[in-house]
Amino acid sequence: SIVVTGATGHLGRLVVEQLLEKVPADRITAVVRDEAKAADLAARGVRLAVADYNTPETFDGLFAAGDKVLLISGNEFDKGRPQQHQVVIDAAKAAGVALLAYTSAPGSLTAALADDHRATERALTASGVPYSLLRNGWYHENYTEQLAPVLEHNAVVAAAGDGRISSASRADYAAAAVAVLTGEGHENSTYELGGDVAWSLAEYAAELSRQTGKEIAYNSVPGDALVGILTGAGLPGHFAEILAGVDASIEKGELVVSTGDLSRLAGRPTTPLAEAITAALKG
Ligand code: NDP
Repeated sequence: SIVVTGATGHLGRLVVEQLLEKVPADRITAVVRDEAKAADLAARGVRLAVADYNTPETFDGLFAAGDKVLLISGNEFDKGRPQQHQVVIDAAKAAGVALLAYTSAPGSLTAALADDHRATERALTASGVPYSLLRNGWYHENYTEQLAPVLEHNAVVAAAGDGRISSASRADYAAAAVAVLTGEGHENSTYELGGDVAWSLAEYAAELSRQTGKEIAYNSVPGDALVGILTGAGLPGHFAEILAGVDASIEKGELVVSTGDLSRLAGRPTTPLAEAITAALKG
């Protein structure tokens, strides 16, 4: 089987959707926490397995020898993601899976956000399980799903200076994951994945202006000011710090990926940012 964790998340849903175009539904297992959230997948013939990274027993016997597994990194920053991911690695090793692919972060990213990914990569490569590191760059959606405050204030506010970002849509990263899960020869591979075009936040603001007909500026602020703005808007302090850390990395060019791995694996160019903006504005 091809097994996908986090299957009811944004990326996981896109992966399952694209897998269904390539393999019979009964060869796909969606690992979910809440079966009800996956009723639509079950209705299409996808097998469901209920498990939680926080409860190791739930992964006992979940994988079978020869499975190809996609471990989608979790989003519970306060629960120790490396330990959570270790649960999946241990279960994959015990079962003798053929491949364990992991959605990681760019190798160039030094922001604190990358620490959990580096720790998981170390555990995975040390495990002896055939692995594939899908070092996903930034999603377009990190920006295009946050348009409300931008349109309200006519300003893109960030602490990234003139730094550039090679983002791509979640669907692009899903296509790369599907290529690795359904293709051959990806054992013990590392892919640096990012969009074909790197853009700056000033260019993003200009494209937003063009598409909305409004004058939207890029307002680059220092990192501590950004933390103040984000916490003022209700974001928890530690999360604001993480985002400011990412912006500092963007300013240093750490989210520029120029390997071409993503479009090569997807077999097509990555989605242009302008297209993602258009889709988001249509809402
Ligand atoms: P989502 O938040 O939409 O999905 C996260 C998935 O992880 C959900 O399916 C969730 O399950 C599952 N999950 C979380 N905790 C557990 C747990 N304890 N046990 C089992 N499953 C769990 O994120 P995306 O799909 O958009 O992105 C996938 C991952 O990529 C994120 O979790 C994060 O690690 C990372 N990411 C990458 C970004 C980038 O720009 N490259 C940006 C943001 C995140 P459930 O559906 O039940 O909630």
